[in-house]
Amino acid sequence: MLGAPGAGKGTQAVRMAVELGVPHISTGDIFRKNLKEGTELGKKVQGYLNSGGLVPDELTCDIVADRLQEADCANGYILDGFPRSIPQAEMLKAFLAKRGEKIDAAFNIDVPDEEIVDRLSARRTDPETGAIYNLKFSPPPADVAARVIQREDDKPETVLARLRTYHETTEPIIEWYGKEGVLKNVDSRSASPDEVYARVMAIARAM
Ligand code: AMP
Repeated sequence: MLGAPGAGKGTQAVRMAVELGVPHISTGDIFRKNLKEGTELGKKVQGYLNSGGLVPDELTCDIVADRLQEADCANGYILDGFPRSIPQAEMLKAFLAKRGEKIDAAFNIDVPDEEIVDRLSARRTDPETGAIYNLKFSPPPADVAARVIQREDDKPETVLARLRTYHETTEPIIEWYGKEGVLKNVDSRSASPDEVYARVMAIARAM
């Protein structure tokens, strides 16, 4: 699942994974969990997450390769927030090729920049369940509203840095997956999460 930070790719990826009964693998979630638990990996990645920069490719790819070897990945998985650079896309391709596998589809959740900043500033997370809400589009239920928090890296200074990183380093992989013949562009401008999901699943069913 590809897209700028705040495009809604996490929401789509979780929903699709539940419907298809396959794991949702988010490198951002893995890094944040390690950060919270104060693990060695958490200490290594802290600076990158807090500045809105990318964790080095090698380290990120090692984490993903370990995760993809777990038993629950045998029937497929939805990758969310990975790959995020051409070297990561190349490493993933090589890793999968050794196992006789390949990526079937790369969905690009396409949202213009001006919408992104709006969306990220309204995004909130429930620290107890990890559920993602948006104060504008999908506000938290009353019993959850008091405990939702804003992700440290959704604060305005870091949002701009993350968008810059996205355009410089991540966006080129859209064209890369186009050349691989698996790119599925999902026009998500001004669309609700339900509308985007309907578009994603229509494409997936037609494959
Ligand atoms: P996300 O939740 O996907 O927005 O990721 C949050 C942060 O984790 C990013 O801003 C990066 O610092 C780091 N991160 C997540 N995925 C990757 C990746 N594939 N490569 C490098 N850094 C990543």
